[in-house]
Amino acid sequence: MIVLDLEFNSGWYSVNMEEILQIGAVKIDYPGGPIKSAFNAYIRPSVHKRLSPIARLLPEVQSSMDSPLDFRQAFALFLDWVGDERVCAEWGRNDVRVLFKNACYWGLEAKLPDYCVDLQTAFGRTVDAKNGLPLSRAVEYCGIPDSFVFHDALNDAMYTALVTRYIDEGTLKDCAFALTERDIHPVIPPKQPKKNQTRSGPFDSRKQALSSRSSRRVACPECGTVLCVNEWATQDGTVFYARCSCGGHKFIRRLRMMEAPDGRFWTYTDTISWSSDNVKLLSAAQNYARHTCAPDKPPRRRRR
Ligand SMILES: [Zn+2]
Repeated sequence: MIVLDLEFNSGWYSVNMEEILQIGAVKIDYPGGPIKSAFNAYIRPSVHKRLSPIARLLPEVQSSMDSPLDFRQAFALFLDWVGDERVCAEWGRNDVRVLFKNACYWGLEAKLPDYCVDLQTAFGRTVDAKNGLPLSRAVEYCGIPDSFVFHDALNDAMYTALVTRYIDEGTLKDCAFALTERDIHPVIPPKQPKKNQTRSGPFDSRKQALSSRSSRRVACPECGTVLCVNEWATQDGTVFYARCSCGGHKFIRRLRMMEAPDGRFWTYTDTISWSSDNVKLLSAAQNYARHTCAPDKPPRRRRR
């Protein structure tokens, strides 16, 4: 079993992809087993021009910036090291996906693992924790000495492997998951938003796009009061309008629905004035088709 951890830089420019800055991994024969071998590679980034505030705080970020390895080289070394291992475990269920997404971005072929194990959920269930515990908390809980700095991929992979000793074996099986091809294709939005537009996505369906909180949230252009659209109206299924009022001011929210080449949806929203022409557009749409927004799912917890 490979226990994997990554450090990466999230970006939001032309491609939505977490660019990997470091791959850390260890091999164990079974959960709780001794660490047999370790892999570490710092990767010089080249996709995103700027580091995110989180990436800037990584303890070893300079080693990545100065690394002689680009992703292609590091990934080739990693696959060599992995050999025939077909099972991958990690703290959460994000890093394996990110790894293969990066490989896909660079056009590198690699077989997906047979299955992956979400050790964070497995550990949480073992100790009856409600939410996703940070790795550092689990390490503390298990009484493992935290002599190595966290958020270095190799150290985190090592800590994760050590924590497997404390995880209930039945729980491990329940926390297995598989990656699909769809998980690993980088998400390409159809186009850049215009100056006054807000872009949100990707969404799996039009309904999800219309109901998402990010598509529905709007601030009154006069007083800044934040509102949430409850109903969209449309004539053509592409441009949607919503009547908005903060109490003191009236305006119209406009949403354009775009489908990306991968079949997912993006919304581009802007605000237009309550002028008679715009009100005509709104009324025409309202007379044609109305879409009431389903309640949004609560936001997913992020790992860090
Ligand atoms: Zn207002």
